[in-house]
Amino acid sequence: MTLTLDRPATTLPRPVGAGTQVPLVTGGRAEYANLDLAASAPALEPVAAHVADVLPLLSSVHRGAGYLSQVSTALLERARECVGEFVGAREHDVVVFTRNTTDALNLLATAVPGPVLCLDVEHHANLLPWRAGTHRTVPAAATVAQTLADLDTALRATPTALLTVTGASNVTGEVLPLDRIVAIAHAAGARVAVDAAQLAPHRRVDLAATGVDYVALSGHKLYAPYGAGALIGRRDWLDAAAPYLAGGGAVTRVDLDDATWAPAPHRHEAGTPNVLGIAALAQACRTLTPVLDGPGPAHEQELLDRLAAGLATVPGVTPLQIWPDSTERVAVQSFTVAGHSAGYVAAYLSAEHGIGVRDGRFCAHPLLDRLCRDGQGADGDGTAIRASIGLGTTAEHVDRLVGALRGLVTRGARWTYAPVGGRWTPTPDPRDLDPLGVGLPGTTGTGCGNPA
Ligand code: PLP
Repeated sequence: MTLTLDRPATTLPRPVGAGTQVPLVTGGRAEYANLDLAASAPALEPVAAHVADVLPLLSSVHRGAGYLSQVSTALLERARECVGEFVGAREHDVVVFTRNTTDALNLLATAVPGPVLCLDVEHHANLLPWRAGTHRTVPAAATVAQTLADLDTALRATPTALLTVTGASNVTGEVLPLDRIVAIAHAAGARVAVDAAQLAPHRRVDLAATGVDYVALSGHKLYAPYGAGALIGRRDWLDAAAPYLAGGGAVTRVDLDDATWAPAPHRHEAGTPNVLGIAALAQACRTLTPVLDGPGPAHEQELLDRLAAGLATVPGVTPLQIWPDSTERVAVQSFTVAGHSAGYVAAYLSAEHGIGVRDGRFCAHPLLDRLCRDGQGADGDGTAIRASIGLGTTAEHVDRLVGALRGLVTRGARWTYAPVGGRWTPTPDPRDLDPLGVGLPGTTGTGCGNPA
């Protein structure tokens, strides 16, 4: 069985569930337009197929002598190599499997041996973990150029162990120039970590080529929604750090008072690993590599341009942007609609048009507060709507979103909506929200196998 694809792909892999029909409050159904891929992306067909192949072979890893244990252990360790290859890992790097990006950055926060610097545009996952130690947050300036200059000044002013930045903003998709950030940080003696949750699904992240020291990513944003992520980067801090999780698999010897901890990665991976999720993540890396080197970025750019052009024609729509001089963006466009709260717009898009978007503050509260102060937040409530694009997004999805927004601002919604439990909700909602029959929360459904 050959698993590695090393030539650029000529076609785009399909996500499972493409073409799923969803009910509308106004009657009938529409193909689901999943414009919320930046939150979680469905599995690609090759990833789901690999999971189906792995499931019958799944057994205990590392400590089992049986044939299937050896197969499962090989799958896990080969997956480690694949994820490393996906991000251009170097000889001195190690791949530690985690649950997701948040987990990976929390792990790095326990290993960093000195002060940390970050920007205020970060997702909470790249803001909050550092607060347990010495950290500083630099406000992003009005331009990328000034932001880099401010980082340079801050790094020169105070010795810093780690500068941690987002690869791509989860609010605006804007990408910072990693090569320049690395040059600035390394000149000041700091290492660089990249939160690649939003970058890795859209662009190659290459540790060897860029000199980035650590990268964190999530499988569920890379079309492998099976609960695995990774921290990849320089081994020395991770070998020296206290074990992130204490328990079986992380030790080479234990007596009643003491333990000898294994080096990374096992030092930080105590307990039975999520072999299925890790195998899925590795298969996503194998599938995405030729796509990112081939037609993926152009496909997404075309749709992003189409969306930007469409939104520009809708009165009252304001796209969000951090820096007017940013030159690269990936697959995310957040915007506000004058006179409408983001939650209301998102409920309308879903209920009347079968479109899934994200609304709110996107776990980026300091950034949304600032954009709001700059006049970009809807009605001053600091919330926005985010449409995100990826594999499986079509021009029809984008056009439907633009048409639906135009309909809202020119004619208004056809249905009525009310806040229920803090969320705008169609009132009444005639849709069947339990198509699998598992029972809605708070009902007496029998989907858990319990007697009604
Ligand atoms: N970083 C960024 C930029 C994100 O967009 C997200 C999730 O939206 C995260 C980190 C956290 O990812 P996870 O929830 O997979 O840990």
